[in-house]
Amino acid sequence: MKIGVIGGGAAGFFAAIHASGPGREVTIFEKSPKLLSKVKVSGGGRCNVTHRPLEISKLVKNYPRGEKFLKKVFAHFKSEDTIEWFENRGVALKVEADGRIFPTTDDSQTIIDALMREAQKLKITILTSVGIKSIHPLEKGFKLETDKSEFKFDILIIASGGHPKTDGYQFLSNLKHTLSAPIPSLFTFNTPGEPLRELMGISMPDGLVKLEGTKLNYRGPILITHWGLSGPAVLKLSAFGAEWLYDHQYRAKAIINWNAEMGEMDYSDHLAKYSLNHPARKVKSHPLFGVPVRLWEHLIEISGIESPQTFNTLSKKQVNKLVQNLFCYILTVNGKTTFKEEFVTAGGITLNEVNPETMESIYYPNLFFAGEVLNIDGITGGFNFQAAWSTAFLAGKSTFKDAL
Ligand SMILES: Cc1cc2nc3c(=O)[nH]c(=O)nc-3n(C[C@H](O)[C@H](O)[C@H](O)COP(=O)(O)OP(=O)(O)OC[C@H]3O[C@@H](n4cnc5c(N)ncnc54)[C@H](O)[C@@H]3O)c2cc1C
Repeated sequence: MKIGVIGGGAAGFFAAIHASGPGREVTIFEKSPKLLSKVKVSGGGRCNVTHRPLEISKLVKNYPRGEKFLKKVFAHFKSEDTIEWFENRGVALKVEADGRIFPTTDDSQTIIDALMREAQKLKITILTSVGIKSIHPLEKGFKLETDKSEFKFDILIIASGGHPKTDGYQFLSNLKHTLSAPIPSLFTFNTPGEPLRELMGISMPDGLVKLEGTKLNYRGPILITHWGLSGPAVLKLSAFGAEWLYDHQYRAKAIINWNAEMGEMDYSDHLAKYSLNHPARKVKSHPLFGVPVRLWEHLIEISGIESPQTFNTLSKKQVNKLVQNLFCYILTVNGKTTFKEEFVTAGGITLNEVNPETMESIYYPNLFFAGEVLNIDGITGGFNFQAAWSTAFLAGKSTFKDAL
């Protein structure tokens, strides 16, 4: 039984490992000279290999695309299984406070070494600098063409990753499968000309960011940068709003509640109480609601509050304005900046053409898909690798089901 795997990344290795067995010849094709190159750079060189175990219904909520599909996949292999797999192979892991899981070495090479060792043990053939140019389904099996030669396989697993441009999927064009166009996900918002940018470096630990004209809103830390707005709440919004933002050419209004614990009435009530208890205090020098001084000064300035004003001198209009700026600060977004630490592409093989119980193509028996080549993407936190491990495990194992 000859099994071909296209892609020497996380999904390709994991699928090849799980497709290996007695009487099987497994070959990985990697077009670049380097193997597992994204694993190497992932998580700032530490590889955030998965996320703290969550119930499947909660785990899938971290995937802007693929939620329903992954519910079925994770029933076969989830975060707990990833942890167990690596720990059984001598990789000690640690969970950080925010749920991200890393090797205790804080070095992605540890993950690479574990995958390489396993591949060697299973005698998987690895061909680097061999890019597949086209795939030809045969009556039985598949023919793969490179620039120089041809290969035939009984079973094929495609784990070629995501690409920011449609060209990257060109080698799949002989197949009937359709592609959701690649679009960026996980980016930060540019806000040219907004005075808020002067407050770069300021962060709020628990804000809420909404996208005007949509139902999308995400909670979490917000960070003001010299080009605009960043932080986990913004990244989540960019991922779940990827299609909407793409369609709107990254022009939008972001509405910020600086302290997600507070509703509009809470801000008003608290301000009224504070004014009663501390009437003579200067507004400017007494920031409230956990707002850092510089941001507070900006908010009171744009609310028309003068520097020397004390709380008892605030007019109703000024209080209302301040509440508005605290609860729904409106920011004009124009453009985006790629988030360098961890980015993924939304788009890829359309999910309803792949069986989520086996990862097999609905068009071609013995053709399987795994990893980011599928229209699946997660937010930051180890979710993208988890999707790669899970789909690859299932694709690899499913190659055993079919008696050819
Ligand atoms: C900088 C960065 C940091 C990241 N950090 C994290 C993190 O910490 N945690 C996390 O969960 N996710 C992270 N991600 C996302 C994660 O790396 C990817 O989701 C994951 O690597 C996808 O694995 P994959 O095997 O499907 O694709 P890839 O890793 O992209 O592997 C696909 C491979 O296929 C090869 N290939 C493509 N076409 C062909 C062809 N025609 N013939 C032969 N070979 C081909 C490619 O060269 C590539 O090596 C990060 C991404 C980036 C870019």
